[in-house]
Amino acid sequence: MGTTTLKRSRQREAILTNLMNRCDHPTADMIYIDIRKEIPNISLGTVYRNLSLLADKGDILRITTNGKAERFDGKTNDHYHFICQNCGEVTDLPLEHMEDVNQAAQKVFGGKITGHETIFHGICSDCLK
Ligand code: ZN
Ligand code: MN
Repeated sequence: MGTTTLKRSRQREAILTNLMNRCDHPTADMIYIDIRKEIPNISLGTVYRNLSLLADKGDILRITTNGKAERFDGKTNDHYHFICQNCGEVTDLPLEHMEDVNQAAQKVFGGKITGHETIFHGICSDCLK
């Protein structure tokens, strides 16, 4: 492996590890701020590129919401998310994944359903206080 390839994979590994060790569903900027403590010369573009690559490979999840910055998640199993419309916090919603939703969708769809994603909206408990 060449020096550049090694550097690239080390950066990608550091980004993945950072994401795995947190549960706040960070934006690319949030990861960049954190990862710079470890790799001071990394650029925001590199962080973006690697997150995009990891998401395309299915190693991480990309959570997109209307008009807001993309969020990333190191947990790739099927699970639901909640987004606070007040503070923008993204959290996991501990609701059992509903496989029957896939079956219901399959019944009304000519193609093949392979899964679904749902994001719940509302006000988080901190903002309700
Ligand atoms: Zn909130
Ligand atoms: Mn999550």
